[in-house]
Amino acid sequence: MKRGILSIVSHPDDETFGCGGTLALHSNKKIPIDVLCMTCNPETRREELISASIRLGLDHPIIFDDKNIVVNSENVMRAADIIVDRNPSVIITHAPFDYHKEHRAAYKLVKEAVEWAAHTTTYEKPCQIDRLLLMEVNSLISNPHILVDVSSTFNRKIEAMKAYTSQLSKFDWGYYERFNLKKAELRGIQGNCRYAEAFLEETVARNGPFYPVKTSRLLV
Ligand SMILES: [Zn+2]
Repeated sequence: MKRGILSIVSHPDDETFGCGGTLALHSNKKIPIDVLCMTCNPETRREELISASIRLGLDHPIIFDDKNIVVNSENVMRAADIIVDRNPSVIITHAPFDYHKEHRAAYKLVKEAVEWAAHTTTYEKPCQIDRLLLMEVNSLISNPHILVDVSSTFNRKIEAMKAYTSQLSKFDWGYYERFNLKKAELRGIQGNCRYAEAFLEETVARNGPFYPVKTSRLLV
């Protein structure tokens, strides 16, 4: 089966604001897309996430019912179990410099989970991902490594954003709508397209004898 993208986020809406256009773009190409949302608080945000996922053209998201993200062994292994089950090639998550402490906690947890998911000592069929990408939600990346042209799916991102009425209504000057539009335009200007989403790429450790694929024969 073709390996796809797993987006692991803190809250309902992070997947749309951070990488919604990219997920919709790849979903259009029949690349498997999964979203794991690690908290759902309050419960009403569940329906918003499901509605946004449909608008992005994605399957039903995986939702943990936690109120906050706690980085401990149990939660790391819960995320690792999902990684191994879905076996993605790419994971997209939060950046470690994000202003939101729950986003920073998600980054830490995902880094740990990626490591454990890759171990032959932990799983009979481990998952070694190819790429770990870090997205921007409200904190901008100063020097992105990757700009994904989402001009063809940006309208779907806009529609998915509208599902989050509980969040959009918090700010009567249209913060989320305007910020996400300007962010996509800024990245589009940098990438010579109309709209883009920016990511950092982080290398994935190969530190020990635990991984199913241990070496590369040639670099090019
Ligand atoms: Zn969030």
